[in-house]
Amino acid sequence: MIDIKSLYYNELENFITDNGFPRFRARQISDWLSKGVTSFSQMRNIPANIIDFLSGSCYISVANIEKKLVSRYDKTVKYLFCLNDGEYIESVVMSYHHGYSICVSTQVGCKMGCTFCATGKSGFSRSLTASEILAQIEAAQKDLNIRISNIVLMGMGEPLDNFDNVIRFLKLVSSEDGLNIGMRHITLSTCGIVPRIYELAEYKFALTLSVSLHAPDNETRSRTMPVNNRYPIEQLIKACRDYFDITGRRVSFEYAMIDGENDSGECAQKLSKLLKGMNCHVNLIPVNTVEGTGYKKSRTERQKAFVEILSKHGITATIRRTLGSDINASCGQLRRNSI
Ligand code: SAH
Ligand code: SF4
Repeated sequence: MIDIKSLYYNELENFITDNGFPRFRARQISDWLSKGVTSFSQMRNIPANIIDFLSGSCYISVANIEKKLVSRYDKTVKYLFCLNDGEYIESVVMSYHHGYSICVSTQVGCKMGCTFCATGKSGFSRSLTASEILAQIEAAQKDLNIRISNIVLMGMGEPLDNFDNVIRFLKLVSSEDGLNIGMRHITLSTCGIVPRIYELAEYKFALTLSVSLHAPDNETRSRTMPVNNRYPIEQLIKACRDYFDITGRRVSFEYAMIDGENDSGECAQKLSKLLKGMNCHVNLIPVNTVEGTGYKKSRTERQKAFVEILSKHGITATIRRTLGSDINASCGQLRRNSI
């Protein structure tokens, strides 16, 4: 069966005409798909023979809302979606003064095993198709009756471990035939799969690459992020510098501050040295609680001292506000078995 919502518009058009149907039907079908229909029989202006053909050869990816939680503090919404095959994923919609932002999942679970992350602890089931990543946005827009303006690929999963589907998703979501959300409004977060960073750079997308660093040296980083054993920090930082040279886009770094683990003045000094001369931005996130990890948020004085050391060395850093903490919707708290 063909995953019809993962097709680019020209692929859909070819599929329709190759099977002997008129070209204009592709436009109609595409319009229905972007309206969020969940079955071909809902396409009211399409003749029965084409509906039969589509039903027999294609399927429509869905993200059905299984559960929805709304934060009492900041109106953040977390969805638990059920996919066609019964797998579960989570997405989070955040409301900012400049509009709505969605954090989407790219895999069911994750293979990378970072010790501070709930997704990493829940194991890996499979990667999502491009249409399943899109379906999260469409379902949220429909449910909340809003238009989403920004996307972060920071939900469950490692986007660069699902490279082809993520590239397809990026092209689909930014296309005029699709949701038309520009690359400048998209952020892709990675734990640092170095060869894939180079591959992504070749596309020269105007998106923001965000690298989850979380430590200033190999010893500290390998303790919490197994991926560092494969792609050590020097290689990762070199890839980020090269990414900027190739794309002209400033890289941002995520640094979850964990009490007594990576938040000392010495760590801040090392980080400053590591990022010296780089056009980048550091987002400091007091680590979010994940059951069973034993990690605690860095104390406020430590956070402030860390920012000060970085800024003394000319590195811009901000401490990120935590949203949706009462509904476990913050970074690293998403999992597939949250019911
Ligand atoms: N796999 C990708 C994207 C999904 S994780 C990545 O790792 O970058 C999204 C972000 O949440 C990453 O920056 C990740 O390091 C961070 N994160 C994971 N667990 C966290 C936690 N407990 N507290 C704060 N941030 C966390
Ligand atoms: Fe996977 Fe990212 Fe979580 Fe690490 S932080 S386990 S890469 S989702």
